[in-house]
Amino acid sequence: MSAEPDFDVIVVGAGVAGCITAYQLAGRGLSVALIDRGETPGAKNLSGGVLYTHPLQQVFPDFLQTAPIERRISRNQICFLNQDSSVAIDYRDARLDRDGTAVSVLRGRLDPWLAERCEDAGVLVMPGVRVDSLLIEDGRVVGVVAGEDELRARVTVAADGVNSFLARDAGLRPAPQPHQLAVGVKAVVQLPSDIIEARFGVDALEGAAIAVVGDCTRGVGGGGFIYTNQGSISVGVVLRLDDLTAKGLRSTEVFDGFLDHPYTERLLRGGELLEYGCHLVAEGGQAMVGELVHHGLVIVGDAAGMTINTGLTVRGMDLAAGAAIAAAVGVAEAIETGDVTAAGLAGYPKALAAGFVGQDLQTYARAPKFLENPRMYESYGPLLADALHQVFGLDGSARKPLRRVAMDALKGSGIGVGTIVKDAWQGARAL
Ligand SMILES: Cc1cc2nc3c(=O)[nH]c(=O)nc-3n(C[C@H](O)[C@H](O)[C@H](O)COP(=O)(O)OP(=O)(O)OC[C@H]3O[C@@H](n4cnc5c(N)ncnc54)[C@H](O)[C@@H]3O)c2cc1C
Repeated sequence: MSAEPDFDVIVVGAGVAGCITAYQLAGRGLSVALIDRGETPGAKNLSGGVLYTHPLQQVFPDFLQTAPIERRISRNQICFLNQDSSVAIDYRDARLDRDGTAVSVLRGRLDPWLAERCEDAGVLVMPGVRVDSLLIEDGRVVGVVAGEDELRARVTVAADGVNSFLARDAGLRPAPQPHQLAVGVKAVVQLPSDIIEARFGVDALEGAAIAVVGDCTRGVGGGGFIYTNQGSISVGVVLRLDDLTAKGLRSTEVFDGFLDHPYTERLLRGGELLEYGCHLVAEGGQAMVGELVHHGLVIVGDAAGMTINTGLTVRGMDLAAGAAIAAAVGVAEAIETGDVTAAGLAGYPKALAAGFVGQDLQTYARAPKFLENPRMYESYGPLLADALHQVFGLDGSARKPLRRVAMDALKGSGIGVGTIVKDAWQGARAL
């Protein structure tokens, strides 16, 4: 017979997924412990920083007013970057600003705020504690082991991020494949807010998010990002691990190249480096999401491989929040009925599949494969710039009609029309 549990629920990891699961369960009257290895929650967490807020607004109706938001993102750019040129699509929309659809955040501020909300809701927050393994008895997860201590719970929530050693060490999840992982390198560069607003063409409190493809990764599958905070810029690259290894490049040298590129240098000029960090990113999309429940255990957020990278948007935090909402439903039901087996916890995967997380993972299931296409990183940026150069680069030679301009640029790129049509079709299906 197992010893009495210390808590109804133990949540491991005080990132977005863990905090929101813990907060929701405490709100349902359950006793919850939230454990994180960081001295303060979020101390080691790293995101590019654009957070799509709707699930956060669902959990905290005052999120936009009270959370430590940097800027409301009302301007989005997609930029093809080449050695000497760039071609961008620029989308700005007052609706994005008004609704607070997406905001920039710094995890060092957001995560402690989330953990504080948990404490206010009655969660026992335990920072500075590293969980070493799951406590498993008769094939059932009954808690966690941290150093000398064993802590028992009816249900344990693995919200321990992309590496999720907990579930893996227990043999409950396979290790991710190299093509399902990317390495993210990010810096935060301090700049006065008036300079940020002038350089990025935004008003006070408004922000811009630039997704960059091409020369920022030196041909490695992945992309770059530049996001505005209140008094700083978040800048980084996300590089597919298998491609990075195959090309014999180091992530930091690729990132340094992006920082030194005139396009980036102009935006960051005069800034002071505040932070620099590397972190793995789950890139496998739906194919990476394995089983979400086991006896006494649920897995949420990055630990379950829940991210969507379409090249246009990188999403993980909103999916972590959405999964947390679904997990709280399943865990609360299971505890209420006294059945914490995988079958008893099935309300979680069911709620997840019915909500935006399951639906979006399904919609973008083809995105990872499409983004493996090297032409996205090597060919289309120069092709666009060459075509536009023939339009704008007036040099006294006779002009050609647009049809000829396009054909010449195509010929120069070495990409056949059939290939472009195929890529466009695959892109339309994947994204
Ligand atoms: C460079 C980069 C850019 C990104 N850009 C974006 C973006 O712009 N927008 C977006 O939505 N997403 C982005 N993502 C993805 C996003 O950061 C993740 O999807 C998100 O952080 C997942 O949240 P999580 O709570 O599941 O995991 P995490 O935030 O990783 O939290 C896991 C927590 O578990 C704790 N932990 C781990 N192991 C243990 C242990 N053994 N014991 C105790 N505690 C433990 C950690 O300290 C951490 O606090 C980006 C990621 C990277 C790396």
